[in-house]
Amino acid sequence: MEATVQLEISDAEWEVMRIVWTLGESTSRQISTILADKMGWKSATVKTLLGRLVKKGALATTKANQAFVYTPLVTEQAAMDTATHALFGHLCEMKVGATLASLVDDLTLSRTDIAQLQQLLATKAVDAPSEVACNCLPDGCQP
Ligand SMILES: [Zn+2]
Repeated sequence: MEATVQLEISDAEWEVMRIVWTLGESTSRQISTILADKMGWKSATVKTLLGRLVKKGALATTKANQAFVYTPLVTEQAAMDTATHALFGHLCEMKVGATLASLVDDLTLSRTDIAQLQQLLATKAVDAPSEVACNCLPDGCQP
């Protein structure tokens, strides 16, 4: 599996990928059953999504015992990193910190997650600049 991926995954496709990442090898029937329960989607919808993900190179498919079996070709971490980097890449560099703080405030984090973040922030604080400039305009924005 590749460490970096240039992959655009739609909201609906994310739901499919989360199942395949969690189960590993999954049949179209397993995926359809879970998404019918979780999202109320018809199996035709799921089949379309699976077809798109195969075309995009996110899933591999093989036929075994009359069933289509899907396996992920990209790791969950690589896909999440690509998506979050793409999102934060759209933001004003000056406002990234405040946006991240707001995100942290809203999310449910375990004590382990929090300890890891505290350690990471303590390390970053050592050589962090006193402020980050806006990069929205070629010459920066007016304060
Ligand atoms: Zn800006």
